[in-house]
Amino acid sequence: MKKSRAAKISYLEPEWTTGLPRLTAGFSTRHGGVSRAPYNSLNLGFGTDDLRAHVEGNRATLCRAFNLQPHQLLTVKQVHGTDLLLIDDENLDLSHFLSIEADGIITNQRGFMIGVLVADCIPLLLHHPAKGVVAAIHVGWRGAAAGIIARAIETMKVHFHCDPDEILAAVGPGIGAHRFEVDRPVREAFRNGSGFWNQISTEVSLGHWQVDLALSCCLQLETAGVRTENIDSVAECTCCHQELFFSYRRDDGQTGRQLGFVMLG
Ligand SMILES: [Zn+2]
Repeated sequence: MKKSRAAKISYLEPEWTTGLPRLTAGFSTRHGGVSRAPYNSLNLGFGTDDLRAHVEGNRATLCRAFNLQPHQLLTVKQVHGTDLLLIDDENLDLSHFLSIEADGIITNQRGFMIGVLVADCIPLLLHHPAKGVVAAIHVGWRGAAAGIIARAIETMKVHFHCDPDEILAAVGPGIGAHRFEVDRPVREAFRNGSGFWNQISTEVSLGHWQVDLALSCCLQLETAGVRTENIDSVAECTCCHQELFFSYRRDDGQTGRQLGFVMLG
């Protein structure tokens, strides 16, 4: 992952965007916005107690940095499920998608940015260069356990004929295992679903485990056929890097949201 900048926006950019000039992809940091503490400053999530005008201003700043109008940034109502919004025809009015409940967006359409909002959950970006398909997926523990990653890859495969072997993936900044402690219901969700519980969990006390969500993402991507060398991951975790990222757990829920974003130009 490389550190990049566009106007006021500093963001982390997957290494694989090199050589793909028409593609925009990255993970915003908390810098460059107007929100006040504890949402300072580039809070991009409407679902917080931050002032709506500030969030709108921040989203406009992000859009401007990539030569977009605010209505060209599409996020959906994330609900920790596994539904994905698929956009495969020309649709200039994105506004009716805003209230859709989904935890990922997949499209082959150009000229608008898709994104997922996070503060500890993992933002996952996917891209198939030859087929011109991009995806932004919100992966919390529920989504990881319920198999949202396999579902996204399968949708790209079935609907857009993307060979997983050629899919590029970026696992964005999320909470590190050392601060992500869970209990039995989470273990049961993983054990009954997907997510490689044995590989990603370490028991730290009776009935409590630390879970490596980023590792779960990587293992699930590889199982779905994505090549290890095509996966770029963020090393820094959200909880330990207060200067860079919002973290729900670190700040007891009183925090902003960063964005994992991708766009075909
Ligand atoms: Zn940490």
